[in-house]
Amino acid sequence: MIINFINQSDADSKKQERLVIIDAGHGGSDPGATSPIKGLLEREVALDVSRKLNVLLKETGFKTYMTRENDVAVSLRDRVTVANKLEADLFVSVHANAAMNTRLATQEYRQLVAEAMFRAIATYFEEINK
Ligand SMILES: [Zn+2]
Repeated sequence: MIINFINQSDADSKKQERLVIIDAGHGGSDPGATSPIKGLLEREVALDVSRKLNVLLKETGFKTYMTRENDVAVSLRDRVTVANKLEADLFVSVHANAAMNTRLATQEYRQLVAEAMFRAIATYFEEINK
């Protein structure tokens, strides 16, 4: 997970006005890393975790925008352009490294990852809202 903080000086906005861009890494013709186990692709894991994170953020009142909602290729240039155009408060890029374990293959583990990311984001905004 890579979190880039932008507009940090804008600390007095309400959470409801916060826009988080969720950038599911890779997609389409760009598979990202391939797990040695079962051929699991990073693009699939990144999208799944991103969708779960999107649900968690929206449930608690954040505005969100996903750079991709399906298995399509999005150029790095387009991802950056969107982030700048929408003047997001936070840009979260979701990636997953290939490793010799099967944990990321499970929905339960992906949900845990999404929840951990959600908590990190919520904590960040709590801190800058103080
Ligand atoms: Zn990646």
